[in-house]
Amino acid sequence: MASMAFGSPSRYIQGPGELARLTAHTGKYGRKVFAVIDSWFFDDLSARLKELFDSCGRAFEPACFSGEITKEVIEGYCEKAQACEADVIVGIGGGKTLDSAKAVAAKQGCSLVVVPTSASTDAPTSAMSIIYNERHEHVDVYYYSKNPDLVLVDSRIIADAPVRFLVSGMADALATTYEARATLLTKSPNYIDQETGPYGATLTACAVAELCAETIFKYGEDAKEANEAHIVNEALEAVIEANTLMSGLGFENVGCAASHVIHNGISATAEGDKSLHGEKVAYGILCQLTAEGNLEERAKVRAFFHAVGLPLYLKDLGVPATEENLRIISGDTKNTEWTREPFPMDDEAVYKVLKEVESLPPL
Ligand SMILES: [Zn+2]
Repeated sequence: MASMAFGSPSRYIQGPGELARLTAHTGKYGRKVFAVIDSWFFDDLSARLKELFDSCGRAFEPACFSGEITKEVIEGYCEKAQACEADVIVGIGGGKTLDSAKAVAAKQGCSLVVVPTSASTDAPTSAMSIIYNERHEHVDVYYYSKNPDLVLVDSRIIADAPVRFLVSGMADALATTYEARATLLTKSPNYIDQETGPYGATLTACAVAELCAETIFKYGEDAKEANEAHIVNEALEAVIEANTLMSGLGFENVGCAASHVIHNGISATAEGDKSLHGEKVAYGILCQLTAEGNLEERAKVRAFFHAVGLPLYLKDLGVPATEENLRIISGDTKNTEWTREPFPMDDEAVYKVLKEVESLPPL
């Protein structure tokens, strides 16, 4: 039997108004805070939080994140964090802001508090950052030896975020279940401590991955309604947890498969940046279930996508289903996560899958 491994953030706290208690949360880890804050929230939050930290005599140094997460940008933040002798790094914002904070904390040996401002992906809990260059091309992945010390989710902020983000995150969470099932069938390794691995998934991680789809199907439509009305209720809290904690633990501790390869293929098309991560992954789920011949589940997923407004066709992602685009999306299948599916796939087979998904009847 191969060894297995499990990794997770040390703490996960979720609820309305938690950001207003940031000084209490960071106080457990240190007294000097350097915060990377998304430009979208920067003016409002940096002033409010500075006041909060001043009132309890703690140092707070905010820096604005906008643009791209490059090695140079991370270096710049590291210098600032060092200059203010920070012992706690806080990231507040979307995936790239949080990934920047993760990189700074790892390089500076500081504690890390991550505050996602939407529930659009499962990146906040993981021990990795995706690095790009100025031309927005993916150049590297940094893997860390530990996950964030605290993932702090303020449900009030999520309830006020655009609904499209929450719905996109639901697809990322659904994919976790289907990709975990494929990964387990092929006994593929997870993403924990790969340098000392490979490691397989624990039963704990498998249970969490399964709970993603269960939770999304049960609460997804109600959570969308709550988000539209800016209400924090049981359904919204359940979906925030599924999109962030369950999906994060599930993907990192079990593994991704075909749905995310399709996402990468769509990203490589000229129109690939017109949709969110989870929206592209959603289309990937339809492809994965088609390739697996799991048509009953595919029908269930399509009905759900139709109900919450996730894509059924490439055109719903702003990507024309041209021959060229289908070839881009089905290209370079070799050595991708398609190998984590329990049957061999090549470019031609993926192309046929795309054709089938595109020819399904509208709902
Ligand atoms: Zn994802």
